[in-house]
Amino acid sequence: MDIANQIKTINNELSRLNVTLVAVSKTKPPEVIQEAYDAGQRIFGENIVQELVGKYDVLPKDIQWHLIGHLQRNKVKYIAPFITLIHSVDSLKLLKEIDKQAAKNNRVIDCLLQIHIAAEDTKFGLDHVELIELLRSEELVGLNHVRIRGLMGIATNTSNEREVKAEFGELKSLFDGVKVSFFKDVDYFDILSMGMSADYKIAIEQGCTMVRLGSTLFGNR
Ligand SMILES: *Cc1c(COP(=O)(O)O)cnc(C)c1O
Repeated sequence: MDIANQIKTINNELSRLNVTLVAVSKTKPPEVIQEAYDAGQRIFGENIVQELVGKYDVLPKDIQWHLIGHLQRNKVKYIAPFITLIHSVDSLKLLKEIDKQAAKNNRVIDCLLQIHIAAEDTKFGLDHVELIELLRSEELVGLNHVRIRGLMGIATNTSNEREVKAEFGELKSLFDGVKVSFFKDVDYFDILSMGMSADYKIAIEQGCTMVRLGSTLFGNR
């Protein structure tokens, strides 16, 4: 199937389930992204700031760009003028820098807190204790140029579906708990970003609201 058909088919399937598609276009050239754009896709995810900025410059300005990869504080300034959603916030320090750069641009930047749910020992993502600590931090109250929209997680890269299901289930419970405990009176804490090409069907079963698909749409990288 070509990219346009694949985009349309998946979007049909997902919109019935109220799940938002982030088309992960990392490593793909602008022409390929334009093809997906022409098929109606507007949300694209990239994991490297430099690549993201290069594509932002040459592609249509109504694209909503999401950063899905690890973000270093010294790179925030390059995306602050235009980024729609940052999925990978994993420290208060980073959140403070995003707030600062958003203020300079007269913007409020939407962010997700990345939670470490995989068995793999990557250094990215908050554990439960760190998450609660961040949410309870007094400094958070003063950050008026960021808005925490929800949580994001990456499951273990394994063919063991039970394990993946358990990890996504745990993240969904955490999301529900955090919503009740910290965001009860607001309506914007509503994004649970989980699921990639290999495991998005499990993520949807477990209650995600946003999936991040690359190879399913664009072929292997
Ligand atoms: C690359 C990437 C994806 C998409 O992966 P696919 O397996 O190609 O769907 C999703 N999320 C993150 C954080 C990624 O880095």
